Amino acid sequence: MNQDRDTIMKSQENLKKYKYMQAALQEAIKAEQKDEVPVGAVVVYQDKIIARAHNLRETKQSFEAHAEFLAMKKAANKIGSWRLEDCDVYVTMEPCPMCAGAMIQARIRSLFYAASDPKAGVVDSVMKLFEFPFNHKVNVESGLLADESKEIVQRFFKKLRTK
Ligand code: ZN
Repeated sequence: MNQDRDTIMKSQENLKKYKYMQAALQEAIKAEQKDEVPVGAVVVYQDKIIARAHNLRETKQSFEAHAEFLAMKKAANKIGSWRLEDCDVYVTMEPCPMCAGAMIQARIRSLFYAASDPKAGVVDSVMKLFEFPFNHKVNVESGLLADESKEIVQRFFKKLRTK
């Protein structure tokens, strides 16, 4: 009986995660439409999406305009605090050193990323930043909608090469 309930709770939890990553993927599609590398992110607080953003590095000509970085800045503005300790970040690509560092600084509770980034990701790929003994520990889960998130980036670079 209890086990059944646990299973149901778990699948509801997974459904929510899927929904949030789907929203991040929607943001990635917006980036693609602007000829930006298609990466999207959302920040979730108390079971609600409080910030959405996509990569705008070219548009803004700004090196820090990564999807998850912009989403975290929006979330901090919304909450009125730099401390995002009850917030979770969903992003379609494994974060770079700048964004992963910002997650430690902002005290993000959990990070969910979809596709890995073998060249620039520092959660599991180039290094495992969150395994170092910083003053804040970010929980990590990866792989949700990884194929879709990877595909959109591959499509983007393929198009770029044929231009
Ligand atoms: Zn980044």
